[in-house]
Amino acid sequence: MTGTLYIVSAASGAGKTSLLRALVRDEPRLVVSVSHTTRAPRSGERDGVDYHFTDEPGFRALVAEGAFLEHAEVFGRCYGTTRAAVERELAAGRDVVLEIDWQGAQQVRARMPEAVSVFILPPSRAELERRLRGRGQDSETVIARRLQEAVAEMSHYDEYDYLVINDRFDQALEDLRAIVRGRRLRLEAQRERHSGVLRELLGARD
Ligand code: 5GP
Repeated sequence: MTGTLYIVSAASGAGKTSLLRALVRDEPRLVVSVSHTTRAPRSGERDGVDYHFTDEPGFRALVAEGAFLEHAEVFGRCYGTTRAAVERELAAGRDVVLEIDWQGAQQVRARMPEAVSVFILPPSRAELERRLRGRGQDSETVIARRLQEAVAEMSHYDEYDYLVINDRFDQALEDLRAIVRGRRLRLEAQRERHSGVLRELLGARD
């Protein structure tokens, strides 16, 4: 049975990365796809784990090969999801999460309309600002720019199937789990998973 492809987008400051980390921790059948990026690693980030860090010529070569399921420029850097790993995981029956921006989300939806998309929002402008500030000792100009970028990203919320508000972390995590559980209970998935039960209940009708 092929897995479900999830697209998850959010403005930075919405808590998306920590939520997704918690979501996949207890879910062996759910994996987060590792993107390629031309931005430099931040402290603590590991190549091949957080991102595949690559240079511009390397990224361009992958684009030319048609290796990307989607790719986009975000904040002046290139980001992309390679097709091969995603297809392999889906074929193995695992659900795959793409943590990508709205531009990538539009490309994936166009190619794989069965993908399920989720947008995560912070609970208020004040809280968003507090979270963006909380990241370090950045100047007011940098904070103002981040806020502006966050608003631009959030303006695309209505292109998504599900909306999660990350006010309390645990509640938002439960909401994400509920979305995944709900998808797994859909008729096509359940029919395949429980074909034996259905045969036993209904007798040999086919
Ligand atoms: P960051 O550099 O802070 O890790 O990510 C910046 C933005 O790039 C986030 O909005 C994130 O969702 C987006 N992003 C990360 N990986 C990809 C990707 O593979 N494709 C696209 N389109 N966006 C990505």
